[in-house]
Amino acid sequence: MLLTIRTTHVPATDLGFLLGKHPDRFQTKSLAFGKAHVFYPEANEKACTAAMLLEINNIKLQKNKRQQFSASFKLADYVNDRAYAASSFLSNALAKVLGSALNGNCKERPDLVNQSIPLEVKLTAVPARGGLELIHRLFEPLGYEIEAQTTVLDSAFPAWGDSPYYNLCLRKTATLQSVLTHLYVLIPALDNKKHYYVSQAEIEKLLAKGEAWLKDHPEKNLITKRYLRYRNNYVRRALNQLLEEEEPSPKASASEDQLEQPLKLHDLRHETVITTLKELGVQSVIDLGCGSGKLLRHLIKEGQFTKIHGMDVSHQAIEVALDRLYLRDAGPLKKERIKLFHGSLTYCDQRTKGFDAAVLVEVIEHLDESRLDTLQQIVFGYAEPDHVIITTPNREYNVLFEGLPFGKFRHSDHRFEWTRTEMENWATAVAKQYDYHVKFEPIGPIDEQHGAPSQMAVFKKKK
Ligand code: SAH
Repeated sequence: MLLTIRTTHVPATDLGFLLGKHPDRFQTKSLAFGKAHVFYPEANEKACTAAMLLEINNIKLQKNKRQQFSASFKLADYVNDRAYAASSFLSNALAKVLGSALNGNCKERPDLVNQSIPLEVKLTAVPARGGLELIHRLFEPLGYEIEAQTTVLDSAFPAWGDSPYYNLCLRKTATLQSVLTHLYVLIPALDNKKHYYVSQAEIEKLLAKGEAWLKDHPEKNLITKRYLRYRNNYVRRALNQLLEEEEPSPKASASEDQLEQPLKLHDLRHETVITTLKELGVQSVIDLGCGSGKLLRHLIKEGQFTKIHGMDVSHQAIEVALDRLYLRDAGPLKKERIKLFHGSLTYCDQRTKGFDAAVLVEVIEHLDESRLDTLQQIVFGYAEPDHVIITTPNREYNVLFEGLPFGKFRHSDHRFEWTRTEMENWATAVAKQYDYHVKFEPIGPIDEQHGAPSQMAVFKKKK
């Protein structure tokens, strides 16, 4: 089993500091299941590759084994893929041999830890039970460029088809720590086999290694199930902890409703967005952060929209929307035109690409301001629709809402609310960065001093 990590960051030998392993030394560490060797096939200023080779000792494994694995035949404990396949043993070795890098520690050069560097990871014989499609579903949302090759199971018997083992090459510019945490969690999830006893400690490991990314991963359920080997009570607990941290309420809070209701502001936003989409001649539209599908319900009624998709980070919201749009038992034509899926605006997701327009109605203020950079990259840099429409509250107007204490936001889950200038500064910078034109429109009754209660930015990609 071989893992290599290559960088072309200059000086590339910084990789040695990050891994806490000197490029000039060949190092071997004994582990419970065999040995791990770390060495550098290349190490110069321009390119550096670190390799970790695992030698699994099946005999030692059997002796140490406390837990009886289900062996399908007598020699199954000895005749199996453990010696060469990249499985949970690899994660274990990452923690034992490259633990400091995995946990983001670097004594000698702490400045390197948070630096994004170009990384290329190669893994041999990755058992992906779920095939190429699964590899893409797990790694693509994290922004990896993926190359995967498989081989026939046995060249003497081509009819047996391909083996489930892939040689993987993953490329991404990121911190080394983030890449190692992805491998730590996703390799055993791909393998989907039980090589160790799953105890409660595995929940903590999963949550710790997945802390920065798992809660937003569109396949978090699948990953959690596979990582915890389908132990239902553990899976439930892990997901609850993940979701508790992240999921905002799918609909406006009672307070926001009460404040805005007299103005029918939310309806007004949706009307304005639909009028704008029609004026722009849009046919396919994706509602990002669609919540319970209120805007989608209006869009469906308009024949001009031939493809209407909605995405939300909240499972609960998607479930409600499926009901409200009567999609569960819908016919094939309706199901083709209207699709809902669970996903996050902070991850690359192929399903967000290829639309004339993307709409984010009252969504951005639900994300921490520090995550807007990522959101911009995803919406404007990755999904790249011809038009983007974003609405968000105008904070200046808040003083006119009776019953909203001074300085408070309209919704407890709002992470920020912008003035008109703040919105315009942000949107203008985004438009410049990603080559869009942008214009602004107020939504709701306009107060001379404070403007309208809501504001909209309409972006159009430059041709
Ligand atoms: N656009 C809807 C809902 C607005 S409430 C409407 O007009 O009624 C904000 C929505 O954004 C919520 O449903 C919330 O789950 C969703 N959301 C928050 N963070 C998100 C993220 N990172 N990715 C996708 N959706 C997100």
